This record gives sequence, structure tokens and C-alpha cells, in this order.
Amino acid sequence: MPKFVYDFTEGNKDLKDLLGGKGANLAEMTNLGLPVPPGFTITADACRVYLEHGQEPPELREQVSQYLDALEAKMDKKLGQADGPLLVSVRSGAKFSMPGMMDTVLNIGLNDESVLGLAAQADGADSDGKADRFAWDSYRRLIQMFGKTVLGVDGEHFDEALEDVKKAKGTHNDLDLTAEDLRGLVESFKTIVEKEAGRTFPQDPREQMDLAIRAVFESWNGERAKLYRRQERIPNDLGTAVNICSMVFGNLGMDSGTGVAFTRDPASGQTGVYGDYLQNAQGEDVVAGIRNTVPLQDLENIDAASYAELTDIMAKLEHHYRDLCDIEFTIERGKLWMLQTRVGKRTAAAAFRIAVQLVDEGLIGPDEAVDRVTGAQLAQLMFPRFDENAKAEMIAKGMNASPGAASGKAVFDSYTAVKWSRSGEKVILIRRETNPDDLNGMIAAQGILTSRGGKTSHAAVVARGMGKTCVCGAESLDVDTKRRRMTAPNGVVVEEGDVVSVDGTSGAVYLGEVPVVASPVVEYFEGRLGADSPKADDLVKAVHRIMTWSDERRRLYVRANADTPEDAARARRFGAQGIGLCRTEHMFLGERRALIERLILAGDDDDERQAALGELLPMQRDDFIAIFTAMGGLPVTVRLLDPPLHEFLPDITELSVRVAVAEAKGEQNEGDLRLLQAVHKMHEANPMLGLRGVRLGLVVDGLFMMQVRAIAEAAAQVAKAGGVARVEIMVPLVGAVQELEIIRDEAQQVLDEVKERTGADVRSLIGTMIELPRAALTAGQIAEAAQFFSFGTNDLTQTTWGFSRDDVEGAFFSAYLDRGIFGVSPFETLDREGVGRLVQIATEEGRKTRPELKLGVCGEHGGDPDSVHFFHEVGLDYVSCSPFRVPVARLEAARAAIESAASDSR
Ligand code: PEP
Ligand code: MG
Repeated sequence: MPKFVYDFTEGNKDLKDLLGGKGANLAEMTNLGLPVPPGFTITADACRVYLEHGQEPPELREQVSQYLDALEAKMDKKLGQADGPLLVSVRSGAKFSMPGMMDTVLNIGLNDESVLGLAAQADGADSDGKADRFAWDSYRRLIQMFGKTVLGVDGEHFDEALEDVKKAKGTHNDLDLTAEDLRGLVESFKTIVEKEAGRTFPQDPREQMDLAIRAVFESWNGERAKLYRRQERIPNDLGTAVNICSMVFGNLGMDSGTGVAFTRDPASGQTGVYGDYLQNAQGEDVVAGIRNTVPLQDLENIDAASYAELTDIMAKLEHHYRDLCDIEFTIERGKLWMLQTRVGKRTAAAAFRIAVQLVDEGLIGPDEAVDRVTGAQLAQLMFPRFDENAKAEMIAKGMNASPGAASGKAVFDSYTAVKWSRSGEKVILIRRETNPDDLNGMIAAQGILTSRGGKTSHAAVVARGMGKTCVCGAESLDVDTKRRRMTAPNGVVVEEGDVVSVDGTSGAVYLGEVPVVASPVVEYFEGRLGADSPKADDLVKAVHRIMTWSDERRRLYVRANADTPEDAARARRFGAQGIGLCRTEHMFLGERRALIERLILAGDDDDERQAALGELLPMQRDDFIAIFTAMGGLPVTVRLLDPPLHEFLPDITELSVRVAVAEAKGEQNEGDLRLLQAVHKMHEANPMLGLRGVRLGLVVDGLFMMQVRAIAEAAAQVAKAGGVARVEIMVPLVGAVQELEIIRDEAQQVLDEVKERTGADVRSLIGTMIELPRAALTAGQIAEAAQFFSFGTNDLTQTTWGFSRDDVEGAFFSAYLDRGIFGVSPFETLDREGVGRLVQIATEEGRKTRPELKLGVCGEHGGDPDSVHFFHEVGLDYVSCSPFRVPVARLEAARAAIESAASDSR
């Protein structure tokens, strides 16, 4: 019989697939002997069965009963019994953390009778009526939470009823409500449930629990959760586990409270005690950022014994997990309880610092350090920052919740954020505090600013996860979302649409746009800031060490796509080991464009063609000399011209208008007329699938060989000057081996001829791009004529899916993303099953024909972290990407090597 339920004493931290992150870690803490309230976890397997069949697995009820019995025995209480009831929380907990995205119901087990029992039970410490108040407040919270999440009642109804009672009392503060008021509210809430949900609030505690479990299962497919998963690339079919945990109360008076702690600063990585504490409150109050917290250090004065125990546990957890942990805890009348721990989210800078700190502390080795940071985090560190010397008017300071520098127009609700950003505006989302309904707006915004809540508030946690700039808790700002404006303490009023800037690294908020400067990490890669320089901070030092370890560990070479000497030089500084794609199209802009146009229009006129080619040759030769020289002997793959033809010919509409206007004026221009006829003749309905790449080279006589000659002569000249040019000539858009054979033979002839004439050692590999499905499928034949393949995954994605890379992202990708057809655009991350399969076939077939065949990739995917892992796994020799992505690719190539070595040894 499948086992769907695990007691906290039965699991451990490695069972995240089954028990979810929260459940696995509660079990781990229980087994470490830490004070965890007893409970059990329903597995994600049970959730998957529920989601597939629309009902719980038949064994579940019985297993839950068995574990509930055991829990009741352990606690010596019964769920919801009238006299001293056991109450439980029912919490979601998936393998990957999805903060606030799924449901939780607290205080399960309360009903009209057990509420009295709870009051009596709570009465032990004080007999001033507070216990009654506490019990009725807990009961009204249960009906509210249960009504909202389990029975689908709109939360506004409860909020309004609560407001009405407060208004009648003439107060704004919940704490002014008496037990009597709350008892009345419970009745109102029950009526709301009946009216809105069409059923009574269940009095049977077990029914409450079963319905709550089901609601948690269902919340896996809630809109918020789906959106978050898409954003974070969490697979849709994992499901969530459900944790049933005996309740402890942080809201039993001032000797109780609840908090969040980090074993190191999640923003900077510094060691120490970080966190927030809130007296007399339940856990949700802290995370929601509804009330303002005190720094965790203050707990030492409030409750020294609990503080000492907590810091002791934190040290234990950090050693045990060998990483930064974040922790949720509750103190119930002076007794500390651990409610959750996990390896904590952190900013990119903290991730790098912590990884090297842990190596220095002997807790992990360099392999693990490299694996604990990501290319996406490194990319974040390369973002620019605000210029410290810029004159900017600071209007407030909040908490530096998630680093980065962002400017944009102030918007005060998510809807406007999404609307404005869709029309191309940069926006800063400003809220008093955010909640999960703001997720769309947060995604759309450049940065997020809140006036309430700490570093663990919803805004902070979610923004950090997204790598988005966030300043939170800027309390001096008066944010008025109704009037769509905020007022700063100095009287400055920011209206919707005014530009503001937020600095997530310092917490500063500025009026207007602030200029930005390069990040120190970029300065380091550029070679302008040495890792040992006194100016280098510990972040630069950490990046340097991680990059050094990465380069020692990766198997893939990393090259860059560069087609100017400046880009080539930058690519080298960033660690590129060659150029994997030197596109030659950009070399034909400006005045040279006219020469190509002349060449194409020359048709059969040999003299005209030769004249145009003759003018182009020396220009191209100079282009290549500059690039070969910049690369100083590293390999350079030059791709022969591959423009869709229309890019070089005048626009057909513009030209037609010009001719028509001239005609109307009776001033016929012969040149334009001839040009128009030629353009009409060559006009293509699908230029991306038309006369481009090798096809152009085969049709426009002399074009490719002019380029080969320029390459050969450039190489000869570099050699004569004492340098080395390691050249690879690459033919684009090949679909059949015959195309390549023709070009290869002609090119070889030109190379030999230049070699003989100049006496220089002119050599070049000749290879092809694989960017058409036919090329991939016939790679075995193509490899007969190619010394290397480079996968052009941009075109290969376009032609495999049959959609235009220029049009579809704007046209319908958002609908595809919304409907879950893609988790991410296949132009960004390689589609492993489709396009990846073709890459794999071509790799295998190509190497079968020619074992020494050199294999690389030069599409955009060459710098995408996930795709780099795929290219490592499939066995390519190198990836090539834009210069700025080179460090990211170096790091990810190392992580791929480390991960595959680890999985080989398992
Ligand atoms: C490709 O198609 O992936 C490629 C690198 O070539 P381009 O982007 O120039 O078509
Ligand atoms: Mg291409």
C-alpha cells in the first residue's frame, strides 16, 4: 500500500520530492532534537493523485486518521475536543519554495464548543479576560481564513464586517476589540459563510481538516501559483505536500511572539544575527508585513533565555545544512518553537560572498561553492548602479531589500504597472505593502517600493527571488494608493507618472532619474579593478575566486560572438577563448551597403560586379586584420555573409512611392525604375526562408570568394607582421552537403592561391553552421565536407518550430506563456525535446563520420544558463555568446561539469 503520510519523526531533509521543502526540513529539525511542534506531512504524491483524479487517493483518509490518533496521543489532547482542544495548522509546502502562493489555514479544530475550551486552556497564565479574547480572536481568524481559502468566499466581506465593528467602537486598532466584540464577529462571519458559500461553517473538526487539506492540494493550481511557477521555471506537475502541525501561539500576550531569522545577512552575506521579531503576534503577521517588527537583536532584551536558545539553534542549523538558513519561530509564553527552516534565499552578492566564506570556514569545498552560485546571479551583479556623484534628491530611505538600481514612472497599482509596461514605459510599483495579488505588477515593474514591512515582507522575499530591485519599509513615505500619489517627509509629492529612482543596494529613494555607473564586477572583468587591488571589495574578491575555480573545472571552451575589434577585445578581457561567430553582415552597413546593392543588381554584368567586388575587398581585409590582431592567435570563426536579401535592397514601398511621385510630376528617373524592377523580381514573401546564407553565396557570383580572399590576405598580413591568425571559415544556412562542397572547394582554392602568392602560412578550417533541420538530419553526410559544425540555434529554433524569430515573440508568445505551452521562450532557453534533439542527432551523426569534428554553438542559447548545461551534456566542445555573457557561460559550464560528475558518481 502506498505510504502517503509521514510523521515528522520519519522524514529527513533529503525527502523534498516527497515531503516538500517545509515538511522535509521540519522532519530534519525534529530528528536533530530541536523544539518542533509535533505533526505529520501528507506527501506530494497524494497531491498528484488528487490533481489527476479530482479526488484523494482512497488510502489517504485511513492513513491520516492513524497519524492523527498518534498525534493526539502524543499531545494528550483531541482535535477540537470541547475541553482543552488540540488545534492544528494545515500548510502547503512544495519541493521549491513558493512564498505566499499557496494556501494555509491556521487554528483548525476550533468550533462553538472548543473555543471555550481554548479560552480555559489559555487562561493558565492570566485571568484578566485576555484568554477569552484570544480564543474568540483565534476562532474568528479560522472562519475568515477557512471561508476565504477553503470555501472561496471573497475576503472583502470579512474585512468589511471587521471594519464595521471597529467603526462602531470608534477605533482603528484590532486590539481594542473585546472578547464580546469578537464573539459577535464570529456570528457575523458565520452568516457571511452561509450566505456566500451556501453552506454552514463546518463544526466537525475532522471535516475542517479534510477540507483544508483538499484546499491546499487545489491551491497548487491557483492562478497565483501557476504564474509564480512559470516565472521561476518550477515544473507544473510536482504538486505540493501538506503539513499538519500542532498549533503554538505567538499571540498569547507580551511574553509570546513570532519572528523570522537568518543565520547570515541575506542581502550582503555578512555573518551575524539577522531577522525580525514581533511580540504578541501570529506568524502570518510578520511575513505579511502588516505590523512593524523590531530587529531580532531586541529579543535579547525581551526574552534573554529564548534569544540564547535561538542563536544556539541557528548556529547548529548552519553547521548542519552547511549554508545560510532562514528560520520561522514562535515563542509561546516564553517557550521557543521552531516552525520552519530552509536554506535561505539570498541576493546575488550574498550568494557569492557566502559561498567563499563557507569554503574558508571549511564547511564546503570549491566544487560546492561554484555550484551554489548561478549564472543568473552573476549577470545580476553585472548590472549598473546609481552614480554616487550624481546630484539626486533623496526623498526617503527604506530597507535595502533586493539590490540593483531602477528608475521609472511611479505607479500605485499592479494593473497600471502592467498596462504601462506593456506600452513600453519603465515603471516603479509603489505600494504600502504588497500581497500575492501584486505579482503581475511586480513582474512588470523595474523596481518595487513599499512603505511598510521588513526584509522578510512579501515584497522583499518575492523581489529577491526574481532578482528585482526592491526597497521596502520606507516608512516616512505616505503612500496614498487611492489618490495615486505619495508624499515624502519634506513635502515632495510624487504623483502617478512622475519619475522616481530606487536603490535596492542602499535603500535610498530619489526623485527623478539618477544616472548609473558600471558595477565593480564589470570593472573587474574589464581588468580595470584587480582582485588584489585595495579598492576591490569582498564581493569582487569572491567573484574572482569563484571564476578561478570555474575555469579550472569546466570542460566546455567559451568563445564570444563579436564582429568588431572593440567587441573582440572586450570578449578577451571577459575570458573568451576565441570568437565563435564573427558575423560579417554588420560590415556592410553605411557606404558599403550601396556596394552590395550594386553587386546584387549587377546580374550578368561581369565588369560591374568585379568593380563592386574590387572596392569591397580591401575594406573587408582591413576588417579582418583588425579582428585577428585583437584576438592575438585565438581562434576566430568568420561566417560568410548571411543577410536576408531584403535587408540590402531598398524598401519596396518607399521606392514605389518615389517612382510614382516622379511619374506624376512627369520626371521619370531611369535608375529608380530599373531598381524597382529588380527589387520586384527579388521580392520575397518570406525573406527569412529565402535567398540568404549559402544560397546567396551560390547565386551572387564572386561574393563569398571575395570574403574568403579578404580573410586569407588578412591572415597572411597578420602572419607577416609576426602575429598568428587562427581562422575558421563558416558557411551559413547549409541544408545539403552539396552546397557546402561547392563553397569549400572554391574557398580552398582561394586559400591555396593566397598562400602561394604571399608565401605566408595561410590556413583555415572550413566548416558550416547547422541551423536547418535538414542539416541536422543529414549531419553524417555534411560532416564529410565540414571540419567543424556550429549550431545556429536561433535559426534552428525558428525552422524547427516553423515560426519567424522576428515576429512571433511580439505576436503570440505571451499567450503561449500564459497557457503554459512554453515555460520560457524557446529563443531564450533551448527547447531540449525538439531543437535539442536535432542538436543531439547532428552531434552523434557528425562525429560518426568524422570523430575529430569540432562542435560548438553560436546562437543566443550559447549564453543561456540552462542551455549551457544541455550543450555540456550533449558533448559540444564550446559555446559562443555575446561578450557580456562570457563570464556567465564560464560559470555555468563549470557548474554543468560539476553536476554531471556528481551524477556520474551516484
Ligand atoms: C543562428 O541562427 O543561431 C545564428 C547564430 O545566426 P544568426 O543569428 O546570425 O542567424
Ligand atoms: Mg542563423
